[in-house]
Amino acid sequence: MDLHFNQNLALGYHSGSQISRVLTEDWMERNMFCPVCGAPVLGHYEANKPVADFFCDDCKSDFELKSKESKTAVIGHKIADGAYGTMIDRITSLRNPHLFVMTYANWTVNNLLIIPKFFFVPDIIEKRNPLADTARRAGWTGCNIEIGSIPESGKIFIVKNGQQEDKSRVVDQYQKALLLQRTRIDSRGWLMDVLKCVERIPQDDFCLDEVYTFVEELRQKHPGNNHVHDKIRQQLQFLRDKGFIQFFGGGRYRKRR
Ligand SMILES: [Zn+2]
Repeated sequence: MDLHFNQNLALGYHSGSQISRVLTEDWMERNMFCPVCGAPVLGHYEANKPVADFFCDDCKSDFELKSKESKTAVIGHKIADGAYGTMIDRITSLRNPHLFVMTYANWTVNNLLIIPKFFFVPDIIEKRNPLADTARRAGWTGCNIEIGSIPESGKIFIVKNGQQEDKSRVVDQYQKALLLQRTRIDSRGWLMDVLKCVERIPQDDFCLDEVYTFVEELRQKHPGNNHVHDKIRQQLQFLRDKGFIQFFGGGRYRKRR
């Protein structure tokens, strides 16, 4: 995998965003395999296809690419995406594509990660201010994806700090993440929230009381739910059944790597 863009393709373009799109999409077409099934190449949808940017002909997965220039090579907490309403509709109706997030500097890929579609919940979508009346698309409301709010298991690196990860490792990680897929959006929300809490506990061994320290925070995220403790235990059981944590009895757990 050559991490450099083909800068010759920028000739004839003037807008920075156009150049960025042409170079990053070309790079993906030439280099990116399917992180879902391992197929060697991805197909590229024609420009302005509303559903996605790339697809895998083998496993029929769809992918969107969001990229940004970042001199510091840091992915950052959020990345801008399209219309807020469309994004929420796609997530709640389970029609959103997988998301590639790329950062680059000096026309070279620094980071590339895939966020599987089943890690998306409305909670991680931030509504931006509508465009001003003077704008060409006045009133249009975009959104940001809060990358920082997504559990670590949902951020699978293909390139990290300029280093390429092993392809088989990427596909394995995807397959492991797939175990967390939930098809109901509310159960997905609870799972992501509790998983994120577990990740915030610094050590691998932890107890139920440590997870309960997040009760108030979770109550605020899920107003109207009076069974937060039960919900937490349910998610921990799910994580155990899927092999993400171990139970030792007496409210003691261990994260599995
Ligand atoms: Zn595939």
